[in-house]
Amino acid sequence: MRKVHDCGGRNLYHWEHRGTQGKAVPDLLIVRWTKNSLCFPVASVLLVIKSFTGAIAIIMPDAHILGIESSCDETGAAVVRSGQEILSNVVASQIATHQPYGGVVPELASREHLRAMVPVVRQALAEAGQTYRSVDAIAVTQGPGLAGALLVGISFAKALAFALEKPLIAVNHLEGHIHAVLLERRRSEDGELDFLVLALVVSGGHTHLYLAQLQENLWTYRNIGHTRDDAAGEAFDKVAKLLGLGYPGGPIIDGLAAYGDPLAVKFQTSQIKHRDRRDHGQPPTEDDGPRFDFSYSGIKTAVLRYVETENLGVAIEARRKALAGIGKPTLEDYLRLSDRQILDLVASFQRSMVNDLVMKTLAAAREYEVRTLFVSGGVAANRELRSTFEREAGMQGLPVFFPSRALSTDNAAMIAAAAFPKFLRREFVAMDFSAEAGMALR
Ligand code: ADP
Ligand code: MG
Repeated sequence: MRKVHDCGGRNLYHWEHRGTQGKAVPDLLIVRWTKNSLCFPVASVLLVIKSFTGAIAIIMPDAHILGIESSCDETGAAVVRSGQEILSNVVASQIATHQPYGGVVPELASREHLRAMVPVVRQALAEAGQTYRSVDAIAVTQGPGLAGALLVGISFAKALAFALEKPLIAVNHLEGHIHAVLLERRRSEDGELDFLVLALVVSGGHTHLYLAQLQENLWTYRNIGHTRDDAAGEAFDKVAKLLGLGYPGGPIIDGLAAYGDPLAVKFQTSQIKHRDRRDHGQPPTEDDGPRFDFSYSGIKTAVLRYVETENLGVAIEARRKALAGIGKPTLEDYLRLSDRQILDLVASFQRSMVNDLVMKTLAAAREYEVRTLFVSGGVAANRELRSTFEREAGMQGLPVFFPSRALSTDNAAMIAAAAFPKFLRREFVAMDFSAEAGMALR
């Protein structure tokens, strides 16, 4: 028995979960409370339950964390209870702002965050039935991301924490994506996880493979692969732009690919054998092991070559103009404006991307003998990626988990969820912390 928290002046205790399979009583009982005045009665009831049933009881503080996310082109605010129940999750997307440019314009992103931040946070609190005063902590994305965009969220979070005298928690955006999976896993009946966990974080800005470990509420990560150039989502976005399909490209290609022949055009994805040049000159560390890096700028160039050799330029320009005239194009609009050759091209591109992501990830899983696989980030919303992972990982006997599609792309619920273990560890940041555009996850 070990003291974990001091609540309202009284000490509370918890018992650690030791595997007790095959017992008639519940293995694990987690009781949370919201009012300090209930601490003592709750603890007493648990003691009684423990002595009568032998069930392992864990008492944990029930924390409402306000999460704030502004790393790229989505302003997000959410209230999550104890890292597992989403009470609200508000996302103001800037897609309409960046659409005319075919990609995110950093300066415009910062200005949009400034405009959206206060109303989005207010809405998140109202929907959760919370107030500025009632939340237990404020969590904010520190990086990686666009420096100016990150600063908007960080400055607002600091101001709130200072004025309200609340603890402030800095969260790595990539850790947030991983906790989007954990958030939903914690809620499921069989929430137990087998470690080692391998997490593929694949979005518009990132393609990373991490080995993840948990000890005493401390999550640690080791990167065993990253993209050498374009991220996978970036490749989807650039190819869609190249084909006059608009922005963001991932969901559009996902929708259209189902109507094309994925074997029509052959694309090669890079097989990387040499170590990353950026690592050169650095002494080897004990972390050095096999790496599984990605590269997606080549496939984008291959699509460009195909467009040139097949003289698709005129048709692409016509499609671009037609789509610009439609406010919010639907899948039917995209289909009407895409001929067979484009559909086949899009399906073949997606198949190559999916196969490369799945095969490299599963090779890493075998090499490091992982027991559980997570796939998260915007591209994890891709239907072919999900079904291929499920099929191929299933054949290796490896359980694979994704966030729901809504939690795959950027949101603040994942930031508030990732902050919860830090809240339990009282890992709070001082007011002088700042944005880290290139923040690494460790
Ligand atoms: P960020 O890169 O800022 O972390 P997100 O996690 O929100 O962003 O991911 C956005 C990226 O995910 C974009 O590149 C988008 O094209 C891609 N994406 C979103 N949905 C899909 C999908 N269904 N298929 C493939 N890519 C997708
Ligand atoms: Mg993201």
